Amino acid sequence: TQEHQIVVVGAGAAGTSVAASLLRQQPGLDVAIVEPSDIHYYQPAFTLVGGGAYSLAKTARPQAQTLPTGARWVRAAVADLQPEKNTLTLSDGRTLGYQILVLAPGLKLDWDAVDGLREAIGRNGVCSNYDPSLAEYTWQCLQAFRGGKALFTQPSTPIKCAGAPQKIAYLAADYVRRKWLADNSKLKFYSGGSALFSVADFVPPLTQVAKRYNVALLMNHNLIAVNGARREATFRFTNSAGETTDVTETFDMLHVTPPQCAPDFIRNSSLANEGGWVDVDQHTLQHVRHDNVFSLGDASSLPTSKTAAAIRKQSPVAAANILTRLADKPLEAHYDGYTSCPVVTGYGKVMLAEFIYGGKVTPTLPLSPFKESRFYWQVKKRGLPPFYFDYMLKGKEGDLAHKAIG
Ligand code: FAD
Repeated sequence: TQEHQIVVVGAGAAGTSVAASLLRQQPGLDVAIVEPSDIHYYQPAFTLVGGGAYSLAKTARPQAQTLPTGARWVRAAVADLQPEKNTLTLSDGRTLGYQILVLAPGLKLDWDAVDGLREAIGRNGVCSNYDPSLAEYTWQCLQAFRGGKALFTQPSTPIKCAGAPQKIAYLAADYVRRKWLADNSKLKFYSGGSALFSVADFVPPLTQVAKRYNVALLMNHNLIAVNGARREATFRFTNSAGETTDVTETFDMLHVTPPQCAPDFIRNSSLANEGGWVDVDQHTLQHVRHDNVFSLGDASSLPTSKTAAAIRKQSPVAAANILTRLADKPLEAHYDGYTSCPVVTGYGKVMLAEFIYGGKVTPTLPLSPFKESRFYWQVKKRGLPPFYFDYMLKGKEGDLAHKAIG
């Protein structure tokens, strides 16, 4: 068993930023990061890739460049956790021991939860911005669209970036309008949820956007099957009495947001809550039963929208509390649930939804959060990617938080 002071699982937005923040504050720490992938993707730009407004190449960086200096990269996947022994097993059979464990493996795209989806995806007009190997195909589907029916889905499970299923629908609608195809096209947005957006204040302005484009909104419709060759999608509609009806629709293009869940090694461990997510305190990010385990990002149970923007605020809190825990002092840093979702509502337009726990809307800048903005499109397309790679992943957000606390 190889022992480390801190073992971080996953070098995505959460794991990388928290490890960087820890090492910035205490360069001598012994931090190992377990990560199987060679490439780090900036996932928030996948929507723009699917809309043909950003290149996939620009979203990818070699992991070796984004990992913080001073961290030891363990190039493997975690297979199993033994929190009662402070150890974990890797897929190659090795065991790691730790004083502090940070769980940040993101979430699993559950393609198999929809009948026929795994076989159908990537062909016959069935696309998804959720996987880097598929996002460019969305743009090919849009360019090949000559009118007809385009369907967009959102599952009933929690997902990363809850606005993303809508964003591509609005980009597609804008594209269709610009190509003079709107009159012979039908665009439909099918959601397994009961509301268009988790924060009620954003529902009316987003409903207006859908209306403007003539995108039909169908709530409580969960995608259950796809037949790519026949270009058919089947949805299960649940009414208010809980009765279900299955409806099959043909399509020319189908953008799927797959059902999502916690990775298997998390779901199968004693660290998971009922939903399968790492069971942490929503303010301190510390595990509710194991005080040397912390979690943040998509894999965590934090009851907020799963975004990189949320991680920007979570990671300084996690880093501060981990250092305090190492020093055996009471935890002081608190996360307020901040998250943000730049809802792309067309080419050159973004409605920036920012909120904290309880669905309280908290705009950072003095601009109306309910208005579509050209400025926020520029922020999303040009400002946030370098901010993510050069500031957030470097753990620099932690400097500010550290100053605020100290
Ligand atoms: P990830 O960044 O997914 O990283 C998890 C890492 O863990 C990966 O590197 C993975 O290889 C690794 N891993 C997985 N399993 C294991 C294992 N067993 N052992 C070790 N390592 C493992 N966010 C925004 O803020 N704004 C947006 O506009 C936005 N739009 C989005 C649009 C799309 C289409 C998508 C897909 C996401 C979007 N997001 C957006 C969400 C954002 O990208 C995620 O919330 C964020 O990347 C989550 O970070 P994470 O570190 O928790 O997980």
